[in-house]
Amino acid sequence: MSDLLKTYFSFLPGLWLADVARYLVASALMTAVLAAFWRAGLAARKLQTRTATARDIRREILASLRSSVIFSLLAAGIAVAALNGWLTIYWGFGRAGPLYLVLSLTLMLVAHDTWFYWTHRAMHHPRLFAVFHRTHHLSRTPTPWAAYSFSVPEAIVQAAFVPLFLVLVPMHEVAILLFLVIQIGRNVMGHCGTEIHPAAFGPGRWLSWNTTTTHHDLHHETGRTNYGLYFRWWDKMMGTEHPDYRRKFESIVAPRTPVVAAD
Ligand SMILES: [Zn+2]
Ligand SMILES: [Zn+2]
Repeated sequence: MSDLLKTYFSFLPGLWLADVARYLVASALMTAVLAAFWRAGLAARKLQTRTATARDIRREILASLRSSVIFSLLAAGIAVAALNGWLTIYWGFGRAGPLYLVLSLTLMLVAHDTWFYWTHRAMHHPRLFAVFHRTHHLSRTPTPWAAYSFSVPEAIVQAAFVPLFLVLVPMHEVAILLFLVIQIGRNVMGHCGTEIHPAAFGPGRWLSWNTTTTHHDLHHETGRTNYGLYFRWWDKMMGTEHPDYRRKFESIVAPRTPVVAAD
């Protein structure tokens, strides 16, 4: 076996375990938060009348664990590429300072949101939907366990963003770790089926440029609108935001609070 393959397979088990742990910890934590605060107010913020069945959750977990295999296969490739200098993942602040770390992480999130919006829209094309995206939409009432519930082709599309970005932009190891934490965190929040964002995230409020659970839940409930991941920018620019998003978020989170500005 060549040295490259030996290195690749030496990275694979650890990266796979780390990715499975990332998914299980984030989804379990979100499930625990929902259970802990259910009677204290979250029950009133449930977004759909339907409740996901045990079968739904089992399907979501199995598909997500399969996705984590795909993600770690790519991650091991990234590790080998970094060791060979084909892309740059650095440590310490000798190469670039903390400001670069913050800016490159911000750029990575904006670029990932763009990648996600456009690949997601493409996967809703009738010719692509069945192969790429049907598995994810089997979760009509998603739960935190749906975070990585993708078909194999969709998992490859989702995972491809990181190596493509790293080829173009050198990243600090900590920035990549933060990206992975933010990515899974926002993902389980979007799929948790209960609006957990405060009123400040509502349309017209100061954090309104972010998506919310209502935003992505409407995508699962109705399809064809709300394709964005972290931000609402692309949906607003392309006219693909659900026309009822604003009313639904407000009716659940801030039914009596007046909206201060139009957006
Ligand atoms: Zn979709
Ligand atoms: Zn989803």
